[in-house]
Amino acid sequence: MRNQPPSELKHINMNKMKTISITAFVIIMAFTSLRAKENHLTNNSKLLTDTLKKDGIDPVCKMKVRAGNIKTATYDQLVYGFCSESCKQKFVKEPAKYIKK
Ligand SMILES: [Zn+2]
Repeated sequence: MRNQPPSELKHINMNKMKTISITAFVIIMAFTSLRAKENHLTNNSKLLTDTLKKDGIDPVCKMKVRAGNIKTATYDQLVYGFCSESCKQKFVKEPAKYIKK
């Protein structure tokens, strides 16, 4: 009786510690997945507007532009790719000038 080891007390403390660390882990995971989701969304919308889906022609200088080009502008629901930033700027200023209807 006198020399009973305090095993029960130890056990309770261990459980408490476990609960605390699991709670912390869950909170961290929740934040991490939220962040990942946000990043995923922004990456996706960027892809939709800024990447040329297939090979095309720079409407300003008539050079070939490859699929995957990110110097693009959307006009009339079409994505146009450009060989350079300056061509893109010219187009953005007056798109109608470079698009034949
Ligand atoms: Zn160009």
